[in-house]
Amino acid sequence: MKQLLTTLLVLIFFSGCQRPATKQAVPESISYLSREDWKAQPAVLPMRAHTIEWLTIHHTATRQLPGKSLADKMQSLQKFSQEEGLLASGKTKPAWADVPYHYYVDCNGAVAEGREAGFAGDSNTAYDPAGHLLIVVEGNFEEEALTQAQLKTLHKLIPAMAKKYGIPADKLGAHEDYAETLCPGKNLYALLPSFQKLISNPK
Ligand SMILES: [Zn+2]
Repeated sequence: MKQLLTTLLVLIFFSGCQRPATKQAVPESISYLSREDWKAQPAVLPMRAHTIEWLTIHHTATRQLPGKSLADKMQSLQKFSQEEGLLASGKTKPAWADVPYHYYVDCNGAVAEGREAGFAGDSNTAYDPAGHLLIVVEGNFEEEALTQAQLKTLHKLIPAMAKKYGIPADKLGAHEDYAETLCPGKNLYALLPSFQKLISNPK
């Protein structure tokens, strides 16, 4: 009896430690790291809750790094995001609460959870990211091409997100549709019509 009680108490303790059951939005067939998996730090500033209406694509504007782990990339991006800094353009960047994007697609096709999707992202450019679900793809697509693994992941991730948030094909866009920027690079921007077709005609 005593043993049974102990078992029950242990079970209750462990179930209480888990995050509330939010269903993973990323399809199971995609290799995925949650914030816990990559050991994210908590947000350092308050964030704005928002309702998602648009799906908006970015690139990291840095070269693809197949040899670095996704967890390391996310930790570096979070550190950069949460500190004040100097951008390549010479502009200063304020400290942000957290990673500015909601999902990161690395060059090996794996996905990491960024800022929690219920909170508006951040930008160095003059548009308000509230209402946008932000997906960033690793690479500089002014110069590089997407990897086959990235394409395969985006072909599953984009329609899955559109379905989850009720986003129609014409509300899938890219950073440069909203602000003065080269993001997400011409090689990724050229793929947008094919991504929109995946939303209007899901397989
Ligand atoms: Zn961007």
